[in-house]
Parts: sequence; C-alpha cells; structure tokens
Amino acid sequence: MAEFAAALRPETRLIYVESPSNPLLHCIDLAALAALGKRHGVLTVIDNTFATPINQNPIPLGIDAVIHSATKYLNGHSDVNAGVVVASAEIVSRVTESAVNFGGMLDAHACSQLERGLKTLALRVQRHNENAATLARFLASHPAVSKVNYPGLPEHPDHAIAARQMRGFGGMLSFELCQPERLDGLLSRLRIVMPALSLGGVESLI
Ligand SMILES: *Cc1c(COP(=O)(O)O)cnc(C)c1O
Repeated sequence: MAEFAAALRPETRLIYVESPSNPLLHCIDLAALAALGKRHGVLTVIDNTFATPINQNPIPLGIDAVIHSATKYLNGHSDVNAGVVVASAEIVSRVTESAVNFGGMLDAHACSQLERGLKTLALRVQRHNENAATLARFLASHPAVSKVNYPGLPEHPDHAIAARQMRGFGGMLSFELCQPERLDGLLSRLRIVMPALSLGGVESLI
C-alpha cells in the first residue's frame, strides 16, 4: 500500500488495479486501497475479471468502480465479447455517455448469450475454484515444478489478503518449471488442457 501512496501525484485522478492479477495472481488489500483513494480524493477502479462477482465483491470494501471482461467467466462459453462496469449511478452515467459516443454497443444476440451464461455462473465458478485448487496442490508437490502462483495456497505471498477478501480463489493459476526448456514437451503431452488464449470458458486452457 505504501507503493500506491508514494506513486500518487497532485494530478492523480484514478487508481486502477487488478486483483488477483495476471500472471502472478498478486492480490491487493482492497479495503486499504479504497481508504487510500478516499483520503486523497482519487477514484479507485478494479479489474475483477479473475475473481468474478462470485468470489469477490469490491464495492462493499469501498472500491468506486468494478470492471469485468464479460468475455470470460460471466459469459463462460467463449462466444461473446463484452464488458461490464459496476459503480454508482453517477459514474455509470459517465461511462454510458462515453460508450454511446464511442459507439460500443452489444447486439441482442450477445446480450441473450450473456444472460444465458450468467445463469450458471455460480455453479461454474464453484467448480473452477475446486479444480484450480486441486491442480495447484498437484503442481506444488510435483518435482518438475519450481513455483506455483495460486492465492489459495497458504505459501502464496498474498494468501492472507486473499483469504480475507475473497470467498473462493478462482480458476486461474500459473507455475514455473525447474527446467523451462521442457515446456514444449509438456505442452505436447497434455490431453485435456489446450494451449490457447482467453480464459473463463468451460475448456481448460494453458
Ligand atoms: C481478457 C481480459 C481483459 C480484456 O477483456 P476483453 O473482453 O477480451 O476485451 C481484461 N482484463 C482481464 C483481467 C482479462 O482477463
């Protein structure tokens, strides 16, 4: 938190964070960040995509605006590009005005896909949490793996913060191999997990 305070300048208007972050799954004390923002009259914004609203609700902790890539968990089926901003009516009306002026608009089919995906969000996230925790523990005990980044592991540097402000630790993790040159061999032997971009669908990706 001291780093954020030190980075503030007189012209600072907004603090933007990601927690848990990509790719090291760092977690930030959101209540402390919100308090810092309020003390300095600076808006606090979080990208809550990795956590989802099932695992983490930053607004009750004092954060001003929450952003989600709805392309990911909220839709959950890798067939929609969309985004969400959750904030006070005043902030949302400013965002809406910009969105209208810039021309960003969801078509009816995307809205319908997203609404259908949301119905199973709670169930999907619960399973994502369980699967990632199982994988994280497996990888942490694997002799070829030197480091696992998952906030649900007690040895993760931000585990205490995550445990305080999250209900679950999410479906994303990263890890490092003892011998990085063995990466291609690892990728070619995976049977279920596909090497691909994006996240939050029902497929397991690396
Ligand atoms: C994918 C992603 C984005 C970008 O979202 P799009 O819907 O693909 O534009 C932003 N933040 C995080 C954390 C993401 O994973």
